[in-house]
Amino acid sequence: MQKDMVCVACPLGCNLTVELEGEKIISVKGNTCKRGDAYARSEVTNPTRSLTSTVKVRNGRYPVIPVKSASPLPKSMLIDCARELCKVDVKAPIKIGDVIVHDILGTGVDIIATNCTEKK
Ligand code: SF4
Repeated sequence: MQKDMVCVACPLGCNLTVELEGEKIISVKGNTCKRGDAYARSEVTNPTRSLTSTVKVRNGRYPVIPVKSASPLPKSMLIDCARELCKVDVKAPIKIGDVIVHDILGTGVDIIATNCTEKK
C-alpha cells in the first residue's frame, strides 16, 4: 500500500510517499531532509497536531485569552481537547506561558496562555 502526504515540517512542503506492508513502513520517499522522514513515520503511526484556541477569562481586561498546546497532541484527541477548553474559565491576571490546563485529558500535554491579561 502507498500513502501520499505533504510534509508540513517546514514551508517547502515536499510531497512524500510512504510505502507500507500492512502497518509496517517499508520506505519514505520524496523527503529532502531527515525531518520529512520523521514526519512521515509519525503521521502514519501516531499523527499529532498542535491545538490553538481561546478560553474565557473572569475579571480580566479581555473576555478571552488565546491558548495553545505546549506540544502536539494526538490528532484523535483534538476535538475532545477543544471541547474541554470550552468548559474552562480562568481568573486574571494571566501571563504568557502560564499553564491554563495541566495534562489535558491525560495526554501529558499542558495548555498554555499565548498572551497576557490584567485584571479589570
Ligand atoms: S522534507 Fe524536509 S525540506 Fe521537505 S518539507 Fe519536510 S522538512 Fe521541509
